[in-house]
Amino acid sequence: MAAAFALILEDYRADFPAQLQHMPRAIHILLSACMKESRAVDVFNPDLIALPQGSNFIGGRRVIGRGQAIPVRRPSDGRVYADLDSVDDAQLGEAVEDAQRAYKSSGWAQTDPRGRMRVLRRWADLIEADMETLAPLEALGSTRMIHEIRAWDVSYTAETVRFFAEWADKIGGEVAATTPDKLGLTIHEPYGVVAAIAPWNLPLVMAAWKIAPAIAAGNSIVLKPSEMTPFSIVRLAELAIEAGLPAGIFNIVQGDGRSVGDPLVRRPEVAKVTFTGSTATGAAIMTACAQTGPKPVTLELGGKSPQIIFADAGLDKASAIVARAITLNAGQVCVAGSRLLVQEGVADQVIDCIMTAFAAHKAGPTWASDSTLGPIISEGQLDRIDGIVQRAVADGAQVLTGGSRATAPQDGSFFLPTLLQNAAQHSEAVQGEIFGPVLTVQTFTDEMEAYALANDSAYGLAAGVHTSDLTRALRATRTLEAGTVWVNRYGRSNDFILPTGGFKQSGIGKDLGREAYVANLKTKVALIEF
Ligand code: NAD
Repeated sequence: MAAAFALILEDYRADFPAQLQHMPRAIHILLSACMKESRAVDVFNPDLIALPQGSNFIGGRRVIGRGQAIPVRRPSDGRVYADLDSVDDAQLGEAVEDAQRAYKSSGWAQTDPRGRMRVLRRWADLIEADMETLAPLEALGSTRMIHEIRAWDVSYTAETVRFFAEWADKIGGEVAATTPDKLGLTIHEPYGVVAAIAPWNLPLVMAAWKIAPAIAAGNSIVLKPSEMTPFSIVRLAELAIEAGLPAGIFNIVQGDGRSVGDPLVRRPEVAKVTFTGSTATGAAIMTACAQTGPKPVTLELGGKSPQIIFADAGLDKASAIVARAITLNAGQVCVAGSRLLVQEGVADQVIDCIMTAFAAHKAGPTWASDSTLGPIISEGQLDRIDGIVQRAVADGAQVLTGGSRATAPQDGSFFLPTLLQNAAQHSEAVQGEIFGPVLTVQTFTDEMEAYALANDSAYGLAAGVHTSDLTRALRATRTLEAGTVWVNRYGRSNDFILPTGGFKQSGIGKDLGREAYVANLKTKVALIEF
């Protein structure tokens, strides 16, 4: 009963935050009391989630992989909950050939653009309607918490599909300026088979950024999800078929990078590759594309993003934003704001606020209603984070809070939100992507020093600036070497039109926006003489 009330209150809070203020006080007190009483409620029982047979999706149906079985572990409690059935070489070949056959003969690329749009819109509606299947499936073996997935991931995935559906009849080509006795045309055409490789950190959303623009533009796709979070995306493919997408346009092959990802991008039928993951893997994929094409490649890679707080900023708000930007998904977000640069004079106040925000977190499994800090994806990654922090401390940095594993009710992989002061600018902790809830803090005296520290990085994915000075905000957006600069906020909005992608070692090309759609089209020229 208490649990039910607690869930009602959570849903009500998410949907009607304004109305909540006017809820009769007695009801509010009753529900809040229930909420407290029910702190340890499991929103779903992970042991009761049944995985359908066959984790690959080839020719419009689930296919059982004949390749190497990979044990898949739940980061929330360490339990191995499934063996992933990878494809073998022959099945990988079948998937790619099937995608090519579907591209050439299913009629998808020839369907009138608004017809493609209608199928994609139906698909998006089915994704949203499938919340109660998709959300636990996504939370089960990932680092995403069930309440975050319900509030954001599933609807954001559906909206990504809708956004790219709308481009299907918007980009056709151009008439070129030429002499009056000729007509010069640029014509956009799909590439054919696009290979997409996705990471584990936001499994549905990251895959949707690749799949949706490629399919909307008329391509077929072969997706390899991360071997650590392979299952939820297969449900998305089933829904695509239900929406009317021809079989073979969206295929999924499972397996690790070495035995499936690398041979996939090397296949001769693959005309374009789109990848999200680490910078090292991105470089290996680019090499493979150069050796076997060359073929175009979009790379969304790692980051080490600065967040700059100037003394004139609204300090409470800025501190709360900074704290959230490194604890969201336990810091396992490409744009995690992992370097705090704060102006001297306000540093103590900002640090106090951030430490208070960090202390309020409760580490717990993705399926518990009261968890606010999710797990780290693997024990290996947890050891890596711990190692970076311990080496920083050995080199003279101070841990202001956190700095070690977090204890949680179950035996999962958790790391405490950590604030690290006095790590040297050229140290591993300040320069390397940690991909955990670890924030370094450095101070600066003047504006140009802040930009110099911020730009002194091999990465250039995102940056945050907090100031009340408009001129400075504009100067910062021009000066910072990052694909996205957020001012007085940090993180994405629902503006899918804004492309995302990094400079320097953070990548090549963009996801989202018009750019991501156009990147799935090649340009042909026609010159007609009268
Ligand atoms: P990863 O590079 O280890 O793996 C990503 C994917 O590549 C997985 O599916 C993996 O199986 C596959 N892979 C590995 N080796 C391969 C190879 N040689 N050929 C083909 N495929 C191969 O990355 P990860 O640990 O899954 O994800 C975390 C990383 O992703 C972080 O660096 C993060 O910053 C980055 N990321 C970037 C963005 C962005 O938009 N820039 C978004 C999310 C994550």
